[in-house]
Amino acid sequence: MIEDIDRDVFVRIQTDLLVVGDSIMTDRHHASNGNYEDDHPQNQIGGIIPAFPLSGWLRHGMEEVVHEYDGTACHPGEASANFMKSDVYERDLNDGYHEKGACIDNRKEDDGCVVFDLFGGFGGVPGKVMRRPIKFNPVRSSVNYTRGQAEGHYRRLNRNIVSRNADDNREPLRNAEVDAVANLDGCWHLSFRETKPEFFGLLAKGIDCLDTHKTDFMHQLGGARNFGAGIVDCHLINPLYDERELKRVFDRGKGNTNKMDEKDDQWAEEYRPAFVDALGKRIAEGP
Ligand SMILES: [Zn+2]
Repeated sequence: MIEDIDRDVFVRIQTDLLVVGDSIMTDRHHASNGNYEDDHPQNQIGGIIPAFPLSGWLRHGMEEVVHEYDGTACHPGEASANFMKSDVYERDLNDGYHEKGACIDNRKEDDGCVVFDLFGGFGGVPGKVMRRPIKFNPVRSSVNYTRGQAEGHYRRLNRNIVSRNADDNREPLRNAEVDAVANLDGCWHLSFRETKPEFFGLLAKGIDCLDTHKTDFMHQLGGARNFGAGIVDCHLINPLYDERELKRVFDRGKGNTNKMDEKDDQWAEEYRPAFVDALGKRIAEGP
C-alpha cells in the first residue's frame, strides 16, 4: 500500500495575507529595471517564501496530533541550548514534549519518535521529510503547481507607530516596513526521503488539525497574526493523483474527473485509515 505513494506530496495552501517578516526573497531587482516602486500595482514581482516558517507551522500541527494520541514529541530546541526562558522549556517538557533526542538510544537513523524521524535534528541526522520553499508568482499562468509553486502577490506594508499626544496630530514615531504576500494560493511541495505509512497518517492528520485550528493564534502561519495574517486554508492534495490530476486541482474551469473521484474514495476509505492506524501503533510503541 505504501508503495503506491509517491515520495513527493503536495499541500494546498490558501491565505489572504501572509507576513514572514523580512524573510521573503523577491525577484524585484529583475523586474525593476532601475525604477522600481514598492507599492505600484503593476509590479509583477515574484519571490520565495522560505521553508522555515512553513516547517515550524507544520511541525506544530503534527506535535498536536501526537499529543492527541497521548504521545510525546521531540522539543524543537536542543536540550543543551541556553534558553532565554529555561523555566518555560521545563514546562514544555511536562506538557507533551521530551528533550530533543531523548527518544534515541544509539543515534541510528530509524530510531526516535515519529517527529524526530520526520524532522531530524542534531548529530547530522537528516529528517525524512524535506520541506521546500514556496516560489510564488503573481501571474497565474506562470505558476507551476507540480513544482510546488503558488500564485501570490507581493506587497510591502508600512506600519506607523504614531504619537499618542494630541498636539502631535498622530505624527509617526517610528515606521516599519514589512514584506507580505497577498492572496496566496498554491502548492507546498514536501519530499519524503523515505516513505513509511505512519508519516502519511501524521501528515494527513496534522494538516487537518491546522485547517481546523487556522484562526487560533498558535496555529496561524508567520507574523502579524494579531492582525489576521497567516490564517491558512490547507489540505493535503490526494497523494494518489498523478501530475495531470494535480494540475487540474488548480484549473478553475475544470472539475474532478471520474478517475479523481475514484482516487478520492480510495484515499478516504482505504489508504488514509490504514496510515492513521499505523501512526497510532507507532506512537503506542513509545518514543
Ligand atoms: Zn523525540
